[in-house]
Amino acid sequence: MAKRRFDTDAVHAGEAVDLSSGALTTPVVRSTPFVFSSLDQLDRYAAGEIACFEYARTANPTTRAAELKIAALEHAEDAIVLSSGMAAISTTYLGLLNAGDHVLVTDDGYKRTLMFARDTLARWGITGELVDSRQPLAAVAAALRPNTRLVLTEAPTNPHLRMPDIRALADLCHANGTVLAIDATLASPANLLPLTLGADLVLHSATKYLAGHNDVLAGAIAGDAKLIEQIRALHLNLGAALDPEASFLLLRGMKTLGLRVERANASAQALAQWLEAQPKVKAVYYAGLPSNPDYAVAHKQMCGFGGLLSFELDADMAGIGRFFDALRVFALGTSLGGVESLALPMGVFMRNGLTDADRAMLDLPDELIRLSVGVEDATDLREDLAQALAAV
Ligand code: PLP
Repeated sequence: MAKRRFDTDAVHAGEAVDLSSGALTTPVVRSTPFVFSSLDQLDRYAAGEIACFEYARTANPTTRAAELKIAALEHAEDAIVLSSGMAAISTTYLGLLNAGDHVLVTDDGYKRTLMFARDTLARWGITGELVDSRQPLAAVAAALRPNTRLVLTEAPTNPHLRMPDIRALADLCHANGTVLAIDATLASPANLLPLTLGADLVLHSATKYLAGHNDVLAGAIAGDAKLIEQIRALHLNLGAALDPEASFLLLRGMKTLGLRVERANASAQALAQWLEAQPKVKAVYYAGLPSNPDYAVAHKQMCGFGGLLSFELDADMAGIGRFFDALRVFALGTSLGGVESLALPMGVFMRNGLTDADRAMLDLPDELIRLSVGVEDATDLREDLAQALAAV
């Protein structure tokens, strides 16, 4: 049979029909031990001659189905799902890096990903450096060292929606023997396939578009089988296994990934264009706007630009407060990629856990507002923003 297309894989990949019961969808397997039928089977398993389930932290059928679905969607040789996106990030760092290694992370990104690299990895003798996500190629080229083992960037970046040229970055990294990992949480595989552009690993906060319903915390790592094997070896020691109930919700969420992202792409594009024309809006950041400096790269690499956008409100703190008080459909909260639309004042929110110097370095002023556009009616979303802007 010819290779199946995205939406078919989203529904079917990884889901082996349970022949014993005839169940169409993958069941939630809660058992923590998986028993052996004989000492001979246990012996052959222990010798690595056969594969079977042993213990829930090592592998679980429901979780494995989610891994196989993600691997199929990302065109990856293998994938791991974990208990959160941060588990995916930290397990990738610790699984790949050794004392004496150097890692580069582009600086427009999730706070904990950046700070883990810059501040925490030093405890294990690893040097983490942040580089300018506005010029990722030049910045990485200037900062690469012989011991740079890993380069990690978001694509698109968060919250300024910049888009690195993944193919060029991969060539640069590979010439130095460096692994390129892309956190493609904002894009999801419905919009961007980093592995097909030369990246070695793709990471996700699966909490976001993959699960898609604002009710599951999960992470994923997909890519080259050897790298995945190396990271999985550490994952089993760290123990951040995803609970099978959460794996089931992740599996179910992914079946509608294409549908949800198609709606979010269209609504976010329309809202970004509309916001650009509003007098109380100083700037709009969205990968699908021609005003985005990386629009051409985004256009070349992506088949849609995603549901996340940011904008700067022309208002003081009181005006920002009136904007949020007036919102009726957008809820005030963090996270992104779910069916419910969310709005967040990034700069204000990031006072929690970031110094003023880091907020300035990351360009997170109080008036920067991030929108995660869900699957509600696009006209209702626009009308909600219009009346909130009028209240400013
Ligand atoms: N990567 C990105 C781009 C994120 O936005 C986040 C969280 O917001 C993470 C990783 C961490 O994921 P999680 O919250 O699932 O641990």
